Amino acid sequence: MKYDKFATKAVHGGQHPDPSTGSVVTPIYASSTFVFKSAEQGAARFEGKEKGFIYTRLGNPTVKALEDSLALLEGGQTARAAATGMGAITAAVMAVAKKGDHIVAGDTLYGGTHKLITDILKQYGVEHTLVDSGDPDNFEKATQPNTKLIYIESPSNPLLKLTDMKAVAGIAKKHGIVTVMDNTFMSPYNQRPIEHGIDVVVHSLTKSLSGHSDMVGGAVIASNDFMKQMDPVFKNMGATMGAWDAWLTLRGIKTLHVRWDRINENSVKVAEFLEGHPKVDHVNYPGLKSFPQYELGKRQMDGPGGMMSFELKGGLEAGRKMMNSVKLCSLAVSLGAVETLISHPPSMTHSIIPKEERLKAGLTDGLVRLSVGIEDVDDIIADLDQALNQT
Ligand code: PLP
Repeated sequence: MKYDKFATKAVHGGQHPDPSTGSVVTPIYASSTFVFKSAEQGAARFEGKEKGFIYTRLGNPTVKALEDSLALLEGGQTARAAATGMGAITAAVMAVAKKGDHIVAGDTLYGGTHKLITDILKQYGVEHTLVDSGDPDNFEKATQPNTKLIYIESPSNPLLKLTDMKAVAGIAKKHGIVTVMDNTFMSPYNQRPIEHGIDVVVHSLTKSLSGHSDMVGGAVIASNDFMKQMDPVFKNMGATMGAWDAWLTLRGIKTLHVRWDRINENSVKVAEFLEGHPKVDHVNYPGLKSFPQYELGKRQMDGPGGMMSFELKGGLEAGRKMMNSVKLCSLAVSLGAVETLISHPPSMTHSIIPKEERLKAGLTDGLVRLSVGIEDVDDIIADLDQALNQT
């Protein structure tokens, strides 16, 4: 049966009752290798002439169910699940950018991605330019004859700056450049970049899709052609996800839409509370009417999401005092989970970025990041209020 609605895809996508037992839930195929019926069959599978599993680094039935689910949710032709978000991002970027090539990327990236593009790949002869991703013209201006890849996060981590996906995808297509977008902050429930012309979507599955802070994983969702290009990198660098983590992610995805309805709803209330609090200087959140790109967010996102950052009037010291005073919220990195998490990007997730560069991108020392969970919103607000009042 064909179904188009997100909630049905989240519950059923990629999954079928197990043919041998009738098990409703996709089993955890905890096997590193798969038996061939004959030497000829083994050879045919390695040659790609016959479909079927060979060895879990190259493919596994539980992981395949997750990959099919992800492709369906993001609207891509196919997907690969990786051991971590960084494994997925590294494979997607390295599949395109080779020695002598150039990458244009947004200037406020997740710390690990920033390190990959600005330092690690530089050592392999890949150049880069970082641009303010809020204005699509900046991508056009930074394009060179050897530009092969545009890499964006929208909303960006942790300033929540949005990129006009349609505009950037149009620029990239004109120049024959591949676009890769990290959709971790939004999840496919709130935003599906492929619908806006982006070529490749990457995720840290550690976050919203698994949703329970109990695993690490990543994904790449793209066309069959892109995956043919990426597979040699991905399968040989060995960043493949294991069956157990695939199963946990599949379980998380079944409630993605329910969790995210609550996350979207709670977050607007939390952001409005913070914006109105006398100790808070400003709040970055796409769901606030005061957010400079509020209209763009409405146009390309189905909800504002659970991530926000803010700065206290008392700066770094007040922010530290607040983070040390929360009781319900967890002082921890990561995001998109059922529990509310509070963290300090400049000294944690983004500490890998040189200070000068961080400040230039607007990532100031006093910035606090919040990932709103699905607890009762009055309890979240009461906790934040008592912590703010300690500063
Ligand atoms: N992308 C974003 C936006 C992230 O926040 C993170 C991790 O925090 C990653 C990618 C990397 O994911 P992982 O930690 O699963 O490797």
